[in-house]
Amino acid sequence: MIYADNAATTKMSSAALSVMTELMKDTWGNPSSLYGFGQKAKEALEGARETVAAAIGADVREIIFTSGGSEADNQAIRTAAYTGASNGKKHIISSAFEHHAVLHTLKRLEEEGFEVTLLDVHKDGLVRPEELEAAIRDDTCLVTIMYANNEIGTIQPIKEIGEICRKHKIIFHTDAVQAIGHIPVNVINDNIDMLSASAHKFHGPKGVGFLYAKKGIKLRNLIEGGAQERGRRAGTENVPGICAMAKALEEAVSKIDGYGKKLSAGRDRLISGLKEVPHSAVNGDEKRRLPGNVNFCFEGIEGESLLLLLDDKGIQASSGSACTSGSLDPSHVLLAIGRVHDVAHGSLRLSIGEDISDEDIEYIIKSVRETVEYLRSFSPIWRDLEAGVKEHIL
Ligand SMILES: *Cc1c(COP(=O)(O)O)cnc(C)c1O
Repeated sequence: MIYADNAATTKMSSAALSVMTELMKDTWGNPSSLYGFGQKAKEALEGARETVAAAIGADVREIIFTSGGSEADNQAIRTAAYTGASNGKKHIISSAFEHHAVLHTLKRLEEEGFEVTLLDVHKDGLVRPEELEAAIRDDTCLVTIMYANNEIGTIQPIKEIGEICRKHKIIFHTDAVQAIGHIPVNVINDNIDMLSASAHKFHGPKGVGFLYAKKGIKLRNLIEGGAQERGRRAGTENVPGICAMAKALEEAVSKIDGYGKKLSAGRDRLISGLKEVPHSAVNGDEKRRLPGNVNFCFEGIEGESLLLLLDDKGIQASSGSACTSGSLDPSHVLLAIGRVHDVAHGSLRLSIGEDISDEDIEYIIKSVRETVEYLRSFSPIWRDLEAGVKEHIL
């Protein structure tokens, strides 16, 4: 089996897994308990906070643990929105291809009277800093732009965006779920005020993540209850999950340089091999993207059929399209970069991980080429395209 869906989730690293099981077996006390056994859990928890903070250049007091990336996004956005509203500022700027954890939170806020501007991400999948600056108003209270996109992997000019936000004294949040542990991220260098991350995207466990909020930002609770996480997030902490996340993050960050080179070489080979499929196109800028991300559109086919046939060949990948999750709408990300519906339906995302071999890459290229050709051989859309009834777009 070749697992090429690391953007959806990753396999837990064995080091993270053993941290998790050891804590579950031996250190299962409640970190809020005052006796020694509870305090051992507390120590593990605070050690994890130090590791996580150090990995992104933050202070320990700036990290709170959450149930994952979605919760961190929700809390960051609502915090900035309600803080803004209390100062009469109810305008938020984001981009058209954010994760749904961001877009759906913004939708809710619109229902509550906030105004949202979604920046264009252009054909290359990149926000233009000058367009961001032009969209800023006197009542803008938050800019939230993802670090790297989960479908097409494009990496935004985060530092410049942060600089503009600093200049205009606007809170800048970034959903860095796809970036953390994959490319270097430093909240100081990148001018980031709030950042969301999720453990299962960097070989940690599912259901754990963290939110960084720069000193001075008073987080608003989503979950009320006990005084855990300095009163910002109630509920007994998932100590094993949090410590496993810290372990996974430490490991991932230490490997960024080596694996980044290996993965981007694999990515570039996949891109050049798949480009040879006629009437195909890479989605998003070819270089300014995550080292492991490849995303293509193939004309005349359905992404879902391609995925199922690739699965038969032992390749796990994903489509940019949401059809698999029961909706007939194509991916909002592909539409945002200007792909028309028909083309957006024929998409394929390969997100490779560090265990991929050169043979695996050649096998993927060969399998995708053959499968696309096979699907086209009985596709009515392809027949029309070839007969000139419909015009090729790609
Ligand atoms: C996976 C993902 C999320 C959601 O994280 P969960 O931990 O699964 O809630 C949010 N944003 C991006 C960009 C993601 O890739």
